[in-house]
Amino acid sequence: MRLKRRVMFSAGHAYWLVGLTDEQNKALFGRWASPYGHGHNYTVEVTFEGAVDPVTGMIVNIVDIDRCIKQNVLALVADKHLTYEVAWFAERQATLENITSFVWEQVEGHFTDARARLCEITVWESPTLYATRTCAGGNPMVSLTRCIDFAASHRLHAPGLSDAENVAIFGKCNHKGGHGHNYGVEVTVTGEPDPVTGMLLDLEALDTVIEEHIMQVFDHKCLNDDVPEFVGSNPTSENLTLVIWNRIKDHIPAPARLSRIIVRETDRNYFEYAG
Ligand SMILES: [Zn+2]
Ligand SMILES: [Zn+2]
Repeated sequence: MRLKRRVMFSAGHAYWLVGLTDEQNKALFGRWASPYGHGHNYTVEVTFEGAVDPVTGMIVNIVDIDRCIKQNVLALVADKHLTYEVAWFAERQATLENITSFVWEQVEGHFTDARARLCEITVWESPTLYATRTCAGGNPMVSLTRCIDFAASHRLHAPGLSDAENVAIFGKCNHKGGHGHNYGVEVTVTGEPDPVTGMLLDLEALDTVIEEHIMQVFDHKCLNDDVPEFVGSNPTSENLTLVIWNRIKDHIPAPARLSRIIVRETDRNYFEYAG
C-alpha cells in the first residue's frame, strides 16, 4: 500500500559560487547565475509504502507525517533564502535535485517502523519541472522531469489493415480529415547530481534538446504527414511515446540519461515508457 502527502512552501535560492568569477558562474549556471537569486513556490510530495495496520487501518498516520515535515523541513526552509540561510545548503547548491535529497534526509530517519517506509520524495519547483528521489534496494536515485505540451493532429490508420478493418478498430479516430490533441509530454532524466553545480545536467541544454528534437518536430504538425517515423506506421500515443524516446535518448547531456517518457493524449489517458 502506498500513501502520498503534499505540502507547499516558498523559498528563495541563488545559483552562484562565491569563489568564482562572474564569467565562471555564468558558464556553470547560464541565465540563472545571480548572487541574489530568485524564488519558487515549492510543492513537496512524500510517498510511504507499507502494510496496513489491522488495528488502525493505516500504514502511517498522516498527522505524524505532517508533524515530521513541519518540524524537520518547513521549520528550516519555509520563507528562507536556501542558499544563504539554511546550513544544509552551505556545502551544496540549493538545486531542485539537492532540495529533494534534503527533504529525504530530513524525513527518512523519523519513520523506522517497519510497517511503513519512505519510498519516494518529489519536489515541484513549478508545474513544468520536478525532481524525484527514490531508494530502490538501498540505492538512492535522483531524476529530473521537464513537462511540455504541443498541439498536433493525427489520423489513426494502420496501413497493414483494410479500410473496413481500420474503421472497425479505430472508429471516428480513422476519419480521413484527422483530428487534434494538445499532447502533454514529460521527459525524465536520471543520474548523479554534479558535486559542484548540484545539477543532474544543464537544464538549458535539456530544454534545447527538447526544443530541437520534440517541439520543432511535433508542435503544430500533422503526425501522419510531417513526421517521417509515421509514414507507413500508425501514430498512436504508444508509437508517439516510442518515437519521442528514440529521437532524444542519444541527445541527453552525459552523464545524465533518459529514463522515462510520458505522453498524455488527453486528461483521461496516459502512456509511459521507461528504459
Ligand atoms: Zn530556481
Ligand atoms: Zn487522437
